[in-house]
Amino acid sequence: MSDLILFWHRRDLRISDNTGLATARQRSAKVVGVFCLDPNILERDDVAPVRVTYMIGCLQALQKRYAQAGSQLLILHAHPTQAIPALAVALGAKAVFWNWDVEPYSQERDRTIISALKEKGIEFLENNWDQVLHAPEDIRTGSNQPYTVYTPFWKNWISKPKAEPVATLENAEGLTEKEKEIAKSAGVIALPSAKDLGFVWDGELIIAPGEQAAQERLEEFCDRAINEYQEQRNFPAVDGTSRLSAALKFGAIGIRRVWQATQQVWENSRSEETQSNIRTWQQELAWREFYQHAMYNFPELAAGAYRDAFKNFPWEINHEHFQAWCEGKTGYPIVDAAMRQMNEIGWMHNRCRMIVASFLTKDLLINPQMGERYFMQKLIDGDLSANNGGWQWSASSGMDPKPVRIFNPASQAQKFDPEAEYIRQWVPELRSFDTEYLVTGKITPLERQAVGYPAPIVDHKLQQKMFKERYQQQKVQPLG
Ligand SMILES: Cc1cc2nc3c(=O)[nH]c(=O)nc-3n(C[C@H](O)[C@H](O)[C@H](O)COP(=O)(O)OP(=O)(O)OC[C@H]3O[C@@H](n4cnc5c(N)ncnc54)[C@H](O)[C@@H]3O)c2cc1C
Repeated sequence: MSDLILFWHRRDLRISDNTGLATARQRSAKVVGVFCLDPNILERDDVAPVRVTYMIGCLQALQKRYAQAGSQLLILHAHPTQAIPALAVALGAKAVFWNWDVEPYSQERDRTIISALKEKGIEFLENNWDQVLHAPEDIRTGSNQPYTVYTPFWKNWISKPKAEPVATLENAEGLTEKEKEIAKSAGVIALPSAKDLGFVWDGELIIAPGEQAAQERLEEFCDRAINEYQEQRNFPAVDGTSRLSAALKFGAIGIRRVWQATQQVWENSRSEETQSNIRTWQQELAWREFYQHAMYNFPELAAGAYRDAFKNFPWEINHEHFQAWCEGKTGYPIVDAAMRQMNEIGWMHNRCRMIVASFLTKDLLINPQMGERYFMQKLIDGDLSANNGGWQWSASSGMDPKPVRIFNPASQAQKFDPEAEYIRQWVPELRSFDTEYLVTGKITPLERQAVGYPAPIVDHKLQQKMFKERYQQQKVQPLG
């Protein structure tokens, strides 16, 4: 009989191109998957119902994929530090394998589990990376330090050869009937719905869950939008980006598979222009990895500002303003359109993420950590590293070398939503106004009142002046 290896899925909800799972299958035919619904994560106050709904959908799809491969995906709903070793012991598993993660919580949890497994003589897979193309240890400066600036990181990252996708799980052996009974008594349950877990999302998902849907989306994007990505990605009214972020966050698609697809379009492309579009998309994948490496190397990022000038910044405490921002009622049409898009569909266009983050921090002078948390409460792709990286970039508190970056909502709208299509889509009460009024925001108080649209809650010019003054003071003499 083959040795049992439990493969613990976390943010790799697929059986294709999964490095740890492929290694497990090389070692034994009897590979059984396990996913643990972790109360430490699900009971946090920043969990988005849409994200849990997508994740549960991915788990349903994964269970089917395991069944097709001849095995099972087991579900636990318990603290993994206790439940994973206990399940392994109950089933007499030879090993528990999983892929490494960059997040501080995961690292700490995994260390505890490693100690428990060691004590029981159960093997594990050390330092196995899957969610990134290059391990954090492999992308370092000449003096062997982690990068803190993207451009040199990118140069090093792109110069390294990239791995091919690894084998899909096939011809596996699952648990016997007797072992299934044992698994039940060790806490294995049927997969609950998101509603069972207390998360209600009745809207549609911007991407269907599961690896097949992610693969189809990748193919569709590579056939079409990638060729014009450089230009089109900036217009929120255009479907010009991949919308693969949730699939990448939960690992419904393998990053090596994604990379391979970009290389294939590159090889088939006939012009330098197309290649430059593909390269721009590859650079976004590198941003994703830059922030993951940053989180791994500087876990303190999760707790707040990276730059000293922002560590004790005198942020405003204004619940009314924060609430108006959350609800998309700031009186700035482009900001409100973006916030309402996120509230309604659980996803926001990247250009608009930058606009609303700049608005919260530079116009409302509100602590970026409040915005970061609100994004996590709403986004289908909410991810600690990317979200924290995006917020620190927008707040100017992070690793970005540019000292202060302030977006003017009106010029952003004029440039990137010139026909106000995006604004009209998400702020329907403004639909009948002329484009010029919508993009400049120059709508009179009476007109606003007539359609029930709020007056601007702050004056952009004054606020940015105030922000700059506070920033100068902090640079000279940080408080605290
Ligand atoms: C304030 C702020 C918060 C953000 N929060 C998140 C988040 O929680 N989760 C998340 O996945 N992305 C986040 N981003 C990055 C980016 O907005 C999204 O990844 C992107 O909009 C997702 O859409 P897409 O899949 O169509 O992207 P595409 O343009 O098709 O890009 C392809 C992939 O590259 C990655 N990517 C693209 N841009 C970035 C970036 N700037 N940083 C990191 N990765 C990137 C994503 O995985 C994305 O799916 C944030 C950006 C900002 C400015």
